[in-house]
Amino acid sequence: MAERTALSVPELDAAPSWKRALAEAVRDPDELLRLLRLPDSLRERARRAAERFGLLVPRGFLERMRPGDGSDPLLRQVLPLDAELEERPGFVPDPLGEAQAAVAPGVLRKYAGRALLVLTGACAVNCRYCFRREFPYEEVPTGAEAWSLALGALAGDDSLKEIILSGGDPLLLSDSSLERIVASIAELPSVQRLRIHSRLPIVLPERVTPRLLGWLGGTRLSPILVVHANHPAELDGPCAEALLELGRAGIPVLNQAVLLRGVNDDANVLAALSERLFELRVLPYYLHQLDPVRGAAHFHVPEARGHELMEQLRRRLPGYLVPRYVREDPGAAHKTPIA
Ligand SMILES: *Cc1c(COP(=O)(O)O)cnc(C)c1O
Ligand code: SF4
Repeated sequence: MAERTALSVPELDAAPSWKRALAEAVRDPDELLRLLRLPDSLRERARRAAERFGLLVPRGFLERMRPGDGSDPLLRQVLPLDAELEERPGFVPDPLGEAQAAVAPGVLRKYAGRALLVLTGACAVNCRYCFRREFPYEEVPTGAEAWSLALGALAGDDSLKEIILSGGDPLLLSDSSLERIVASIAELPSVQRLRIHSRLPIVLPERVTPRLLGWLGGTRLSPILVVHANHPAELDGPCAEALLELGRAGIPVLNQAVLLRGVNDDANVLAALSERLFELRVLPYYLHQLDPVRGAAHFHVPEARGHELMEQLRRRLPGYLVPRYVREDPGAAHKTPIA
């Protein structure tokens, strides 16, 4: 026994704590229901939907949910439900036509002056409303060679001002990989900005380590981080600390939320989200209309209702705390404001 302990302890220490937290994330719907003391009647409904798109939720995120409450707004974002199996007209596998925007494997050119690198298909959480639930991420190239090919496809394009690291969740890559990728991006002379889209600071705040702050704050590129929180209850102690750390390191942080029925389709919730974000030095950026992806129709909020909510926010909050209400139209060169 003593021997085994001696062997396993250094190994554990070598893995950053966020990797351990990810390895220990809940993947079994039965376990989720048991931990939250939810009724067994949900079991079959959850299990069938989880076969199509797996359950995945870090334990730290689960701890922010109210036990025994089947309609908890954080639970709704991650709990598989049989409503996902219903086909609804207009809700399709690739609502954004992303398959068409690829200029090379893992490189999307949808926006002027910006290129998107899809570094991984993996995420630390499976949000039930995500368009990723149907995206062919098996086709995303991974590994140093693939990434250098992807960047090679962008070399020589002097119109490129910004590189967006996206996914899945790009912060699931190791710091050493990200350091290498960022160094290669910094070699592209016209690129000025490095933007990262990640939900990890929210769902797995352990990911915000001194080493991450080091490479993100230390590149010649101007960094900007766009996180994704939908409800103020997501912004608990460890998450708040991670966001404040990013702010202290001088990294601008913006938030995008998705308007979701039963989660945040309420002016009180959206106003509280904006105010809590700002308390943590994060500015609300976008409120997205749900992408009509197959399996997510039960989260749909009509635009007329979204518009009403925006009106209420404008009446209650300073302009800088009112997010832009937008939708993504396939093939469009920018997001469409919903007026
Ligand atoms: C909308 C979007 C962009 C472009 O964002 P802007 O802030 O409008 O330039 C880039 N990446 C992702 C993943 C987006 O959803
Ligand atoms: S974190 Fe973002 S990309 Fe990942 S499942 Fe959730 S919404 Fe989709």
